[in-house]
Amino acid sequence: VVSNKNLQERKDKAFARGQGNAYPVYIKRAKNSEVWDVEGNRLIDFGTGIAVCNTGHSHPKIIEAVKAQIENFSHTCFTVTPYEVAVELAEKLTKVAPGETEKKAIFVTTGAEAVENCVKIARAHTGRRGIIAFNGGFHGRTNMTMALTGKTMPYKKGFGPFPAEIYHLPYPTKFNGTSVKDTLTALKNLFKVDILPEDVAAIIIEPIQGEGGFYQTPVELLQELRRICDEHGIVLVIDEIQTGFARTGKMFNIEYAGIEPDLMTMAKGIAGGYPLSGVVGKAEIMDSAIPGGLGGTYGGSPVGCAAGLAVLEIIEEEDLVNRANQIGDIFNRRLNELKEQFPNLICDVRNKGAMIALELMKDGDFEKPNAELTKAIVSKATEYGLILLSCGFNSNVIRFLPALTISDEIVNEGLDKFQELFANV
Ligand code: PLP
Repeated sequence: VVSNKNLQERKDKAFARGQGNAYPVYIKRAKNSEVWDVEGNRLIDFGTGIAVCNTGHSHPKIIEAVKAQIENFSHTCFTVTPYEVAVELAEKLTKVAPGETEKKAIFVTTGAEAVENCVKIARAHTGRRGIIAFNGGFHGRTNMTMALTGKTMPYKKGFGPFPAEIYHLPYPTKFNGTSVKDTLTALKNLFKVDILPEDVAAIIIEPIQGEGGFYQTPVELLQELRRICDEHGIVLVIDEIQTGFARTGKMFNIEYAGIEPDLMTMAKGIAGGYPLSGVVGKAEIMDSAIPGGLGGTYGGSPVGCAAGLAVLEIIEEEDLVNRANQIGDIFNRRLNELKEQFPNLICDVRNKGAMIALELMKDGDFEKPNAELTKAIVSKATEYGLILLSCGFNSNVIRFLPALTISDEIVNEGLDKFQELFANV
């Protein structure tokens, strides 16, 4: 008989622990914001597979698009014999990407690969070596992206040595005592002490740190980075892997800052669950890499691209950009009510659209991050019929990433469950 317990035992035998930490709950079926495990238990999904299923699980439009595609063909390799779905998706993404400059795209498979390719393109374009990233930032688990990631546990421990010429700057959040001015001073010092600006290929930043704790990068920092990159011919890479595709109440979060990235990463929400990622950027920079230098066997999979086209249609037809803000407002109101009930435990409720965070402390002191309580709540969530995620530089943030197609009723039902869970842990 298949049961969660039985599958957990099989998993523990068959899977190395490095791919671990999952809930002991095995999913059989999912529809929009509801998920059912192999034992028939229903869960409300506030995690969307880490910001992937922005359009909900098994959206009929995506099913239809994917079915039609696999009936035609599933794979030919875009760099061998290309096909129209990928061309059409690239045309659309280069149009929806912010800014007026002519753009081009490449497609790969995972978020980390998109970031890796930004580094390659920026280096090919500038002929320079240095890459600047931020403490608390997360860019993936491959060798280069792990090096760019600004947190050791659990992403880097035991996996060095890391690639050279990566530099990290302090990242300003409302709780870590770092201001935008501090970050910019650190950058000035870096340019004096460690690497000259004319040797820096790229600065990479998330417009909201995702794994780092859902802190919106201050608009003035993003604007100043844009200015500094322009001044020194540095490529500004905006990592929109977690924030993209209507999640934060704009198609891309960088739109809040009103600046145009040189290169932008896209993954996760791009194809609603089919492995696809890409880089979209200024045509002149994108064309710096030599033919054959970028890509991969599965890059721009026709199935992923078909799903990606369906995702873009759904976002527009169902007005998911505005819906993200409505969902965010409900979470914000209800989580602030919870904060009033637990003023000694909750130090912050913040959201940008439907990227919502609850930050936990001990003894009413925000300088004491409560990682223990965060872990206890998140690990018990499935017992209350919820899928939740945590994040944060100090592992003390509960993050909510609901589907943008979720109904008000299910948001409220899920938040009722969350309230009960919070009160009982
Ligand atoms: N960059 C950001 C901002 C992310 O949030 C993630 C994944 O969480 C990645 C890169 C890596 O993406 P992937 O896990 O698909 O390699």
